[in-house]
Amino acid sequence: MKNALLLSLFSLAFGTASAQAPCYWQQKVDYKMEVDMNVKNYHYTGKQSLVYTNNSSDTLRKVYYHLYNNAFQPGSEMDARTQSIKDPDNRMAPKTKVDGKDVRISRIKNLKPEEIGYLNIANLKQDGAFVPSKTVGTILEVTLAKPILPHSQTTFTLDFSGQVPVQIRRSGRNNSEGVALSMAQWYPKMAEFDFEGWHADPYIAREFHGVWGDFDVKITIDKDYILGGSGYLQNKNEIGYGYQDQGVTVPKKTKKLTWHFVAPMVHDFTWAADKEYLHDVVKGHNDIDLHFLYKNNPKTIENWQKMEPFMLSVMDFYCHKVGDYPYKQYSFIQGGDGGMEYAMCTLMLGNGEYDGIVGTATHELGHSWFQHILASNESKHPWMDEGFTTYIEDLALNELTGKKEANPFKNNYNAYFSMANSGKEQPQSTHGDRFDENRLYSIDSYYKGSIFLSQLVYLIGQDNVDKTLKRYFEEFKFKHPTPNDIKRTAERVSGAELDWYLTDWTETTNTIDYGIKNVAENKDKTVVTLERIGRMPMPIDLLVEYADGTKETFYIPLRMMSFVKENPNPDMKRTVLNDWAWAYPTFEFSISKQKSSIKKITIDPIGLMADVKKDNNIFENK
Ligand SMILES: [Zn+2]
Repeated sequence: MKNALLLSLFSLAFGTASAQAPCYWQQKVDYKMEVDMNVKNYHYTGKQSLVYTNNSSDTLRKVYYHLYNNAFQPGSEMDARTQSIKDPDNRMAPKTKVDGKDVRISRIKNLKPEEIGYLNIANLKQDGAFVPSKTVGTILEVTLAKPILPHSQTTFTLDFSGQVPVQIRRSGRNNSEGVALSMAQWYPKMAEFDFEGWHADPYIAREFHGVWGDFDVKITIDKDYILGGSGYLQNKNEIGYGYQDQGVTVPKKTKKLTWHFVAPMVHDFTWAADKEYLHDVVKGHNDIDLHFLYKNNPKTIENWQKMEPFMLSVMDFYCHKVGDYPYKQYSFIQGGDGGMEYAMCTLMLGNGEYDGIVGTATHELGHSWFQHILASNESKHPWMDEGFTTYIEDLALNELTGKKEANPFKNNYNAYFSMANSGKEQPQSTHGDRFDENRLYSIDSYYKGSIFLSQLVYLIGQDNVDKTLKRYFEEFKFKHPTPNDIKRTAERVSGAELDWYLTDWTETTNTIDYGIKNVAENKDKTVVTLERIGRMPMPIDLLVEYADGTKETFYIPLRMMSFVKENPNPDMKRTVLNDWAWAYPTFEFSISKQKSSIKKITIDPIGLMADVKKDNNIFENK
């Protein structure tokens, strides 16, 4: 979220050799669902058939479904967390005055029965036989009628009935911009059981992890509602509303319409519906259609139509930077409560200012790579999806809006510095729900996560990071990559050792602080002494500017990296010094000029190294 194929291709993707460890596996689920939505009372009923493929070598005796809607009930874990966290989300607990004092009251706490969300299950069967199940908060625990043997399939069928909650977080009815239905996490969703085990996380606040599979979804709804969502509409010439082929006359609509969507190889299915949606389809390169569904009011129309060609260029930018978008469709849908990424679509607010909308849309589209196609676990490693998406979003906006700043990530570094220097930081390896403050989750995930990549540029060079992202995409698309996978990919591309980087940056709160300790004249030379003050190791780029206007750079490799970076600035003379082993607190080298001829010495002049104390990074000869 924002602070935001073809079947033959898939079999190809799965048939190729993988860089993942041999013990890697993930399950497969194929859903068929038929849903009937009552737009008057927000109740829906449905039937689900799910073919479950156990790709593991384990025999499964239980499975778990997510019933996310149940979070929107007084007394739920989501409610309790909203009431107890120091800085609750404004959308979930807005500031209100009680006895003249500002307090935050959980909106979930005060929901009436007709406003809550729920998802109830009935007639759950496995291969035709009834199976007992138990709802525990937002999880359905199912004890199987017969164990699922390794490398075998079983079919679950069930009936479900739900109520769309008042819009509080991500999904719901009648959002702040009047969108009728934002339907995310709305159906009984099988939890992932992968090479790490079960991931039946309760829905407390943070994001998701799903099972890859094919979705076939039929939604029956009042004929006046226009839908957007995951998947390709199968009966577009019967539906119309801008989906139909050119020149087709859409038949007159009866009372209800059944929208039939198919989404191949996704790990979620989301949709939204409103009577007032306008719907534009813009054709991009590689036959990818961008759909835009937004409310019919003048400012929204102006901003969304202005955004359409820009989003085509963002799509091209990401395809070029990371890898080809493997579906033929992506939809920007006004809905939800900010910006949230889903399979083949986003739900985002859309009535704001142009820059804000474009920023959100650029971010959410970036999640198609880092969350959807590269489906790292958002609960366990939120920095991998939010951080990497922020990184490519910043690159895209810097390039495509013509800003072209040398360091487009400055704001990310400043946010990280404020957290690191506050003493409140928690390691990035913290589960998304276990941060003490929402603010810490956000800075850790979005900004420190983005710096993982921009600082990697400092470590191994832009070219190697570009190649790393492409190779990471090729080798881990349609899978669940872990932190080690991005690290190993960067190592294999560059030849550098980066285990220390992954450990210190993501699993600790160690900080980087290097300084220029002393600059002394020694005969006709100048001796520079650097010191390492922070715990975290780094190689050093050093710029020396002379009084006569000339410049040169020095590079001190980090011994534990076993690596010498290519000169990032080939127009300038660079001297590669001896390496600096971490345990030595200081490092000394000579410049073959007198001290008086030196004007300024700067550690990391571009600022991609996240040094938390910058005042000791510069020496100026006054
Ligand atoms: Zn995001």
